[in-house]
Amino acid sequence: MADCCDYTVWIVRSRKTSLKKSRNRQPERGAGALQAISTPWNLKKTSGLQVLQLAPFTRLPWLVHGFSTRLGGASTLDGRKVLNLSFLDWDTKESVLENRRRLQAAVGAKDFKLVALKQIHSALIVPFGAAPANPCSGDGLLTKEPGLLLGARTADCVPILLVHPNERAVAAIHAGWRGTLARIVQKAVGRMHYEYDCKPVDLLAAIGPSIGPCCYEVGAEFVTKFTAQFADAEEYFDEARTGDEPNPLQWLNMRPPGHQPPPKNVHLDLWKANRSQLIAAGVKAKNIYSSELCTACRTDLFFSYRKEGPVSGRMLSVIGVREYMELGSRSRD
Ligand SMILES: [Zn+2]
Repeated sequence: MADCCDYTVWIVRSRKTSLKKSRNRQPERGAGALQAISTPWNLKKTSGLQVLQLAPFTRLPWLVHGFSTRLGGASTLDGRKVLNLSFLDWDTKESVLENRRRLQAAVGAKDFKLVALKQIHSALIVPFGAAPANPCSGDGLLTKEPGLLLGARTADCVPILLVHPNERAVAAIHAGWRGTLARIVQKAVGRMHYEYDCKPVDLLAAIGPSIGPCCYEVGAEFVTKFTAQFADAEEYFDEARTGDEPNPLQWLNMRPPGHQPPPKNVHLDLWKANRSQLIAAGVKAKNIYSSELCTACRTDLFFSYRKEGPVSGRMLSVIGVREYMELGSRSRD
């Protein structure tokens, strides 16, 4: 369970009518639809791998970054070669190490030291001035040290990469529902300000592929959890659609037990929740880029724990600082 994805509330979708309704209502989020990859996002194809990158990040010559996909790689899953980047029971250590090597080469970070955490669904953030001698636990990594490649492993949870263009500082965040509820991304912005003097107003944020509101059905108790923490939490939820007539926002007027049927499941929008936290932390809305790619809809491209079950791979979202000197920035002596 060292690298378990926290999707314990696993509800197998079987209501096709609900998918259709959802698609009609919100075509850009259609469950099962092949969501397009559009600018400023780009799939970089190299050596059999495909890595998702963000143009505003690619334009920074001192930055390396990428969100891995499942394509290519040395691991075998269901008879296909995949790029699993976490040490899991079904995969060999050699394959994972080879996959990591290939990903690092694909993002131009071949000689970087990869730093990843033992992820525990917390709001723990660890700044790194050097690669640690022993593995650390936590769910957010920061650095401004050249040569370190920070990595967040996911297979439905939300990977978020942060960049401060002037301070040349970066962060990689793993935000599942627990981390989101614990405000990990909001805390990461504050920690970057504290550690590296990164003004939030200048930060760039990339919200990577993860389970979308189209597929992330949760119990009504999640509404209680989130509304207890966030003033705008109602905006993160959508009613779960069924073939019946809709009972709009039933969870808003829940009555005591026995007075009406139990509240229906709802869909949670972790992208919106994390975007809201970034804005609350001082990041400009125009500097937040969300891929809006749902891992459960796009199992052709990504791993999805909820869709595929425990025998799925893990992606790695990576970011790091290169040694780089601007032309004309050398001493004039
Ligand atoms: Zn989806």
